[in-house]
Amino acid sequence: MLTLSNGKNLDLAALHKYLEAKLRRVATHMADVIIRGGKIIDGSGNPWRWGDVAIQGGSIKAVGRVGEDAPTVINAEGLCVCPGFIDMHAHPDLTLFYKDVEDYKLRQGVTTEVGGNCGFTAAPLSPATADALKKSSAFITPPHGVDWNWRTFGQYLEAVEASRPSTNLAPLVGHGAVRIAVMGFERRGPTPQELDEMKALTQEAMEAGAFGLSTGLVYVPGAYSETGEIVALAEVASRYGGIYATHMRNEGDALLESLNEAIDIGRRAGLPVQISHHKATGERNHGRVAQSLDLISRAREEGVDVTVDQYPYAAGSTTLQAALPPWAQEGGVEEVTRRLRDAGTRGRIQREIQNDAGEIRMGGLLEEILITSLATEENRALAGLTIGEISDLRNRSPVDTVLDLLVEENCAVGMVVFSMDEEDVRAVMASPHTMIGTDGLYQVGNPHPRVYGSYPRILGRYVRQDGLISLEEAVRKMTSFPAQKLGLHDKGLLRPGADADIVVFDPDAVIDTGTFRDPNRYPVGIEHVLVNGRISVSEGRFTGVTAGAVLRNRA
Ligand SMILES: [Zn+2]
Repeated sequence: MLTLSNGKNLDLAALHKYLEAKLRRVATHMADVIIRGGKIIDGSGNPWRWGDVAIQGGSIKAVGRVGEDAPTVINAEGLCVCPGFIDMHAHPDLTLFYKDVEDYKLRQGVTTEVGGNCGFTAAPLSPATADALKKSSAFITPPHGVDWNWRTFGQYLEAVEASRPSTNLAPLVGHGAVRIAVMGFERRGPTPQELDEMKALTQEAMEAGAFGLSTGLVYVPGAYSETGEIVALAEVASRYGGIYATHMRNEGDALLESLNEAIDIGRRAGLPVQISHHKATGERNHGRVAQSLDLISRAREEGVDVTVDQYPYAAGSTTLQAALPPWAQEGGVEEVTRRLRDAGTRGRIQREIQNDAGEIRMGGLLEEILITSLATEENRALAGLTIGEISDLRNRSPVDTVLDLLVEENCAVGMVVFSMDEEDVRAVMASPHTMIGTDGLYQVGNPHPRVYGSYPRILGRYVRQDGLISLEEAVRKMTSFPAQKLGLHDKGLLRPGADADIVVFDPDAVIDTGTFRDPNRYPVGIEHVLVNGRISVSEGRFTGVTAGAVLRNRA
């Protein structure tokens, strides 16, 4: 027995045995795992074919008819075998550290998550404003497991690596975090010197391996920035081969203007654009994705590489604080709650929300908002209730209930908002320019069911039941398409030499099972999931194996 510097004991005999077996396999080029007799859907969009997949040391060794044997054989008869799903729009930045819940992505077939979306990242941190950033992300911070013991983006990635995540992480750097590090939650443009500092932090993140820059222009502090500021930072990302991913300024009345801004940023900074969770919110905007998808096609014809991602539900989820007008969110959480306690300011906020001025444009939707998570013990039982129901319980108006909850919880409240139209969801899904992402914000309580079910829902509902898209096309949107966008050349395709991130699923059974009122449910039909050649899900169950890696952009 040998004691390592981290206090762990190493059993030398066991290690020796393990290495010997490993060496023997390497010497004989023997596979570790063979997945036998499945329908191969290789991720390219090409039609399925029968075949086996042999895996050795984290990579795919062969695809097709594999004669040899292996210590582990997975019988894939009647099942489909495809590359691991790449969650193009995820928020695993803090939950990766939270060991109790790490299988909710794996069990829907996700093997790689693109983190740092919507401008939210856990790094870089500056000593003066780190606390403000932590408080603003409290609605998605797990109750334990996050030490925040980093400062730079590179140090954050090292911390994720050390925590041995269950999925691979492909990080973006968030404009919000960069801006908070330099300017806090100030509602103004940066001085030339502040802009230089923001560029330097973006550069540092890109050099540490970020795959691009993300913005959340509906949130603060993103909402305080003008286009020129984003272009300046996107130019930095562009120099490193990065992409620009954006939760646009507005997905409702100003959907097309916002999309034009995103396309313009891509054009001016010379980098690919990814429109996050594409949708049209608010009843009067339903149907407008026809125009937005058309605009995207035209931008592509002109030579701007614009693509979108989507989660397959007609409801979104975010922080309840986003219901407030941006001016009311200046200065961070303490300032916000101070304003809500001041009768005069509160009255103004109330009027603006009711007149539809909240950034989420939810004036008419308040009562239906479903509360997903709360910070205090006293209120936790309210998770899973709507604002309408809580209003009845408390005998308060819906808008008062929203503002009361924000004060009581220091703004750490998550919500689901039913703002979309199912026909729009289907139109976006059918577009060849759409890839899939969960937008999964894990919350203890009553999270949006997309956290557990996005991929099985597409395969079960939209492919098998509705025939909206083919199985091969759905898998392409989940695998090679996001891999191509990010430049993950070893992922997203089942081919020799690629990373062995693999999903084996039952095409006749796969489906989501969670609902908005009962979301904490695993899907069915996702039988086996391998991450970097190791089996993390076997016969539908998490094996406890966490084999994710931090991926770094090396463009
Ligand atoms: Zn977003």
